[in-house]
Amino acid sequence: MHEVSVMASIVESVLKELEKHQVSKVEEIELILGELTRLGREQMEFAFDIVSNGTLLEGSRLSIIEEPIEIRCPNCSFEGPAGRLEDEGFSHNIPVLSCPDCSKPVEVIKGKSCMVKSLKVLE
Ligand SMILES: [Zn+2]
Repeated sequence: MHEVSVMASIVESVLKELEKHQVSKVEEIELILGELTRLGREQMEFAFDIVSNGTLLEGSRLSIIEEPIEIRCPNCSFEGPAGRLEDEGFSHNIPVLSCPDCSKPVEVIKGKSCMVKSLKVLE
């Protein structure tokens, strides 16, 4: 499961950061999860339980903030949420990475991140 290796590196970097401070417990970890990462929310929660086991993060609450895709068009400077293709054959609707105004390819400005936003710690 891809989520476990991603979560393992997140937990590792958080623990490394915590080593620099006097922390007895982490109450909550806020994690931004971009839609384009294709990482499943439930799988990430499950992975967190596995990889935090036996560490300072064991028992901490993981809050996942989902980040929808936002795009910017270099052609007409449209900026906003990506369009959606809804297809009955898919369980999820599919983001469209072209401009809703001029149909040119766009840059993705949001939705790619998978990162820790904040930690609530007890000292
Ligand atoms: Zn455009």
